[in-house]
Order: sequence, then C-alpha cells, then structure tokens
Amino acid sequence: MLKTIPYLLLLLVFQCTTIGFHETKIREGMSFGEPASFRVCILHEPNITQEEIQNLFVAWNEELSLYNLKAEVLVLEEMERPGFWGTDILSYLMTLPLTKECDRLLYLKGRTWGDIAFEVLTLGIFVGVGLKLEVQGAVEGRSNTRGYIKAKYQSTIQILFTSPKSTLIHEGYHLLGCGHQLFMKECYEKIRDVKLLLTDPNRDPNFFPNMTTSGKKILNRTQVPTYSQQN
Ligand SMILES: [Zn+2]
Repeated sequence: MLKTIPYLLLLLVFQCTTIGFHETKIREGMSFGEPASFRVCILHEPNITQEEIQNLFVAWNEELSLYNLKAEVLVLEEMERPGFWGTDILSYLMTLPLTKECDRLLYLKGRTWGDIAFEVLTLGIFVGVGLKLEVQGAVEGRSNTRGYIKAKYQSTIQILFTSPKSTLIHEGYHLLGCGHQLFMKECYEKIRDVKLLLTDPNRDPNFFPNMTTSGKKILNRTQVPTYSQQN
C-alpha cells in the first residue's frame, strides 16, 4: 500500500493539469450554436515575445474551435509581475476593472532566476514526496474573467506534465465558467450555457458573458467585482 502512495500523488498532480477527460461522443452530440468570439486582453512580463503569445493563442483556439469559439488576443502592455506568488498576481488582477475592449484579462508570467531557484527547490520536494508546490496558473472565482498563467517554462520535471499551452487551455476553460471535473460533460454544458447567454436580453451587447462555477450569470462588466489593493 505504502508503495502505491507516490503513484497516487503523481496521478493527482497529473490531474491538476487537466480540467477533465474529454468525452468526444457526448460533445459531438451537442450543439454549441453559432461561431462567436471573445476578446482576451493580455498583460505580460517583459521577457515574453509577441510570437510566443501568438503561438499560445493558436493552441487555445484549436481547442476552442470544438465549441465554435475563438479567443481574440489584444496585448495591452508589458509589465513586471505584481509579486512572486500566484496569489499576488491574482489579487492584483482583481483590482483591475475590465475595460470596454476586454472580455477577459490574462497575465502572462515569465521566468526569472528567482523562479529557476524556486523550481530547483521544489523539484527536490516533488521527487521526495510527489508534491508540486508550484502553481502554473489560476483564475479568480468571483466572475471567472481574470487570471494568469505561467507562459514560459521548459524545464525540470514540469514539462513532463504540463506546458504553457496546456496551462492556457486549462485556465481558458475556467475563463468560460468551467470548474474541475473528472469527465468533461459538465464543462461542455457550461460552455453551451455561457454561449446561450449571448442572447440574454439583459446582457451588455459589448461583453462576452460568463458564469461562475456556482452558476451565477455574469452579463455585464458591473458584475465583475474589483477590489482595492490591500497592503
Ligand atoms: Zn484549474
């Protein structure tokens, strides 16, 4: 029994990188309506190139085409990351209102010497107990409209389990209201329902709607809460 524990932990780590297993037959039997697109505004760390951003979106859009959806990228500006930890980045993003040209807001985190040192440190922990401290990305749960991903890492053991593209696809599902599930059916239904909100008479026509994980409809930007930064 003891011998199987590392494998179980490894499996858990692996599952964290996927939002759920695809159920192709179910998806193909569903209708996702007309093609639609949403605008994703990008803030990025200085060492990330335009080409890297475009490549990430090509991969994400390939996944989104399953749902007749397209993410349009709009690079706002480059900026140093608001803090070392993912929670610092997320709480900073929570202070930014969604402006009228943005339906979603995404921060692309790069890789610094500090990150590399941290990776080496956590690699030891990973090998030792099969636990990965590092978080590859996250989306806030109040409106599911703002999040960050680690957009640059090709190193250590991480690449065996994840990549910036798969992280974006994963967080991208959260940006469309999905939570985590073992199988994807629930998430397909969420995306279908979010797209149905496009016809909701109460929707701001200049906003791509969303739903929180608990099912609350987000139909306009005033429903996207912003918080003042706490120091
Ligand atoms: Zn997730």
